[in-house]
Amino acid sequence: MSAAPINDLSRLCVHTITTRPWKIEEAARRFSEAGVGGITVWRDTLAGRSICETGAMLRESGLQVVSLCRGGFFPHSEKSGRQAAIDDNKRAVDEAAELGAPHVVLVCGAVPGQPLTESRKQIRDGISAVIPHAQAAGVKLAIEPLHPMYADSRSAVNTLGQANDMAEELNSPWVGIAVDVYHLWWDPALEAEIYRCGRNGHLLAFHICDWKIPTTDLLNDRGLMGEGCIDVRQIRSWVEKAGFRGFNEVEIFSNHYWSGDQGQFLEKITQAYLEHS
Ligand code: ZN
Repeated sequence: MSAAPINDLSRLCVHTITTRPWKIEEAARRFSEAGVGGITVWRDTLAGRSICETGAMLRESGLQVVSLCRGGFFPHSEKSGRQAAIDDNKRAVDEAAELGAPHVVLVCGAVPGQPLTESRKQIRDGISAVIPHAQAAGVKLAIEPLHPMYADSRSAVNTLGQANDMAEELNSPWVGIAVDVYHLWWDPALEAEIYRCGRNGHLLAFHICDWKIPTTDLLNDRGLMGEGCIDVRQIRSWVEKAGFRGFNEVEIFSNHYWSGDQGQFLEKITQAYLEHS
């Protein structure tokens, strides 16, 4: 019997936003044909369609639905805004349940000018308010810490240490964490915090791409694995040492790649995955 390959595509997942020009049917067909094992669905791709049927279509294509992106954005200066965010997160949980996704990824949010400590408190309170709904639906909530360059308006949770603190404080089997190399690669405490996350059973998702040099757009210039300065393979080894056995999710926002041929891009993704992650 021959030895199993060190790496194959069975644990490769691609986010729908990575090949944004494709409708979800085409993404499903192409991912499946390429041998990709999983798909993470962004909520915008579900607008105006039956979520239940979409989930069935993805499974019939041979893809595992890995997660739903995204909920979050809990902080708001007004109480009504915070309540609206909680309501929207409950809808995201319902959508994940209909789709058959085990968790919703949370981009936690921040309010420009509001102290980050206050935003973090509002995030914690917001997640706490959604937990009973998540539990009832059987859908987990995955806190995704974002790079500090987004601390102004996208997330007041900027390190894995902060996400670990919050998940420990919330202390619910329905709350975990999504580790994204793009946001966390620079952190000197990353390895230790990944092990802490794993020990707590909080490691729910692993997102990969690369940090291009130079990065020309703070949001939409992510690179393919191997194109930049992130040692994806090393971080993946830490995540696996921490007990993670889930998918490696390629999440690339890129004006450059979105403007090109998506079929060629998908070929580059599978190649970069095999060679650099
Ligand atoms: Zn991510």
